[in-house]
Amino acid sequence: MTDTTIGHWLDNAIFDGSSGRFGDVTNPATGEVTGQVVLADEADAARVIAAARRAAPGWAATSLSQRTRIMFRFRELLNERKTELAAIITAEHGKVLDDALGEVTRGLEVVEFACGMPHLLKGATSEQISTGVDIHSTRQPLGVVGIISPFNFPAMVPMWFFPIAIAAGNTVVVKPSEKDPSALLWTAALWKEAGLPDGVFNVLQGDKVAVDALLDSPDVKSISFVGSTPIARYVYERATQAGKRVQALGGAKNHMLVLPDADLDLAADAAVNAGYGSAGERCMAISVVVAVGSSADDMVAKIAERTRTLRIGDGTRGTDMGPLVTLAHRDKVASFIGEGAEAGASLVIDGRGSPADGADDGFWLGPTLFDHVTPDMSIYTEEIFGPVLSVVRVETYDEGVELINANPYGNGVAIFTKNGGAARKFEIEVEVGMVGVNVPIPVPMAYYSFGGWKNSLFGDTHAHGVEGVHFFTRGKVVTTRWADPAVSPSGGLELAFPTHA
Ligand code: NAD
Repeated sequence: MTDTTIGHWLDNAIFDGSSGRFGDVTNPATGEVTGQVVLADEADAARVIAAARRAAPGWAATSLSQRTRIMFRFRELLNERKTELAAIITAEHGKVLDDALGEVTRGLEVVEFACGMPHLLKGATSEQISTGVDIHSTRQPLGVVGIISPFNFPAMVPMWFFPIAIAAGNTVVVKPSEKDPSALLWTAALWKEAGLPDGVFNVLQGDKVAVDALLDSPDVKSISFVGSTPIARYVYERATQAGKRVQALGGAKNHMLVLPDADLDLAADAAVNAGYGSAGERCMAISVVVAVGSSADDMVAKIAERTRTLRIGDGTRGTDMGPLVTLAHRDKVASFIGEGAEAGASLVIDGRGSPADGADDGFWLGPTLFDHVTPDMSIYTEEIFGPVLSVVRVETYDEGVELINANPYGNGVAIFTKNGGAARKFEIEVEVGMVGVNVPIPVPMAYYSFGGWKNSLFGDTHAHGVEGVHFFTRGKVVTTRWADPAVSPSGGLELAFPTHA
């Protein structure tokens, strides 16, 4: 045990709970246990949810102007102090500092979007829809909303949701990943500094027990989940069963289709950046390059040449790629490399045993490149979630699209070509939620919505953008009659279904 306990956040203060359950938090670059995160039991979860429930009516009734001012203050504080948050992310997740800073910046963009909530919440009005009758629509907050996030973006992924939820007048309970729980505790203290009232932003630390408490609680009105596909499916089924609205984003296997006419240098840079950035632990990482026809040999050579220049090591030392998040995950990813080689794929670069600029006990694994991968191999069928890039060779564009559309995931995809007509055809035909044309990680801006298709998302609402505003609010339509005082106020008795005159 270390002395550092990472607690929950309730009513703008740290709350250690009374479960007596803890999980180790590790620095992946050193292998050292740096803290113990408290793991909620049902009673702890009930305390945190109750705080959010108590705060909900007051926050919903707080004027839009006042709520927006707090959003702007939070935006300013986060922008000023984002390097502090990036350092926390690197210490618990392992990604290199620049990448952690990029994560915070992309989250900040959602905060900026949510600062425009007064505009986003405006409804519509129609005058005189019938004689003396008007109609208007409005959107109101849900109450308490639950957010459950994965390890790979401990700050950005929760920020896809909570700025919009809070600005729209909801109170929030966020359940971080138990692997890197400190980023949200830091964020909670920042909300307090920005003037957010007690109980509006709460953090519930824990594992399945905490998740199930959120899914089952009648006080929690919606669930926004991001994580692996089996858990996303489970969360979707259990929470919808409990009558909640749910958006559950799952895993991915993202392809990059390279046509023979593509700028292969651009495509190779993109494959390396998107394949090995954050050690491949991104839901929008490219894990399969589909090389069409004559592009394949050159593509593999160019990717290999670039991959060999990458510096692996401690993310605080200016390296290109950090460690994997845990020892168990590192070993699992390494086992896929063995499976791929055994199945007959060509191992162009083997990352096992690659030198790393960091402590001996860091969870290192170098970037790995396979060529001649076929769709039956486990390195193709499984989401590896590590720095392992596979090249599948196909003869034609059609064969490439067929392969991509047959994949059970549909999160992100990219096409590299100089042919606008081919790109347009691809954009229309591909069955994936987020598409890049000569862009490898097509993560939409905050004012668009983020979400995949098929096994990459359960539910029908994507994250942030107007879909996010819609998710965190309920529509209401009000029909009003104020009679002209000069005219008789009574419409008389009429039992037939009302029509308009
Ligand atoms: P995970 O599914 O293991 O965990 C996600 C969350 O669910 C965590 O908070 C965890 O505590 C909780 N959880 C884990 N097991 C559970 C169980 N049995 N019952 C209830 N809750 C449980 O995912 P992870 O390993 O933290 O994150 C990596 C995964 O997330 C990858 O599959 C990746 O593709 C996916 N991801 C997807 C997106 C997206 O936008 N689609 C974004 C980021 C990550």
